[in-house]
Amino acid sequence: MKTKQCLVIGLGRFGTAVATTLYEMGHEVVAIDHNEENVERVMNLVTHAAVADASDERALRSIGVAEFDVVVVAIGTDVQANILATMNAKSLGAPYVVTKAIDEMARRVLERIGADLVIRPEHDMGVRLARQIATPNIVDTLDLGGDYAIVEIEANERLRGTLRDLNLTGRFGVQVIAVNRAGRVEVTPRAEADLRPHDKLVVIGTGHSLDELRRYLGE
Ligand code: ATP
Repeated sequence: MKTKQCLVIGLGRFGTAVATTLYEMGHEVVAIDHNEENVERVMNLVTHAAVADASDERALRSIGVAEFDVVVVAIGTDVQANILATMNAKSLGAPYVVTKAIDEMARRVLERIGADLVIRPEHDMGVRLARQIATPNIVDTLDLGGDYAIVEIEANERLRGTLRDLNLTGRFGVQVIAVNRAGRVEVTPRAEADLRPHDKLVVIGTGHSLDELRRYLGE
């Protein structure tokens, strides 16, 4: 696994969890916050921690924001600071900026100003939990980042035929990577493999494309 250079801006509960977990996983993590106490708290848990105001373009430039593989803007409540930090990071050349939005309006603004990925942690976790509760045939979801996920979906009458004829990639933008039929698992199934109701399909795709497939199946 390639070590990533990560910059985490804002060390609340969310930012701290992101920064310390990335560091534990072996990545280089620089963490900044404008509050000195928060910086001290994570000092020994990341590669480097510093006090800085992320809404100040000069501060981000001197940190070398463009050199990081990933910048995570984990400021929530102060929407203005969040927007400025995201905008400055992008305009200074950061290749991939993930930012946290507190509501739908903030999400739209952040997307408009160029955030590569906008997440709403409470909302997204709520949706995920609800899906797990409401659709028990999705045994588990593995989020791959960048909005990609691997999920397990149960086939029904609407998915009869071979994978080639069903053309799930062309129709929904998803790929079946395994088929579990009553405990017998076929990994990377052939195009001729036929699906039957109650087969458990392990499918990879974006959140949107997986939702489309679920909708088609009437879940
Ligand atoms: P969480 O839910 O993760 O605890 P939150 O949204 O409640 O976060 P916020 O107060 O919005 O918390 O901000 C998270 C962190 O971002 C705080 O530690 C705060 O000090 C820091 N922060 C806010 N504005 C800036 C800024 N302009 N520059 C750097 N850090 C900032």
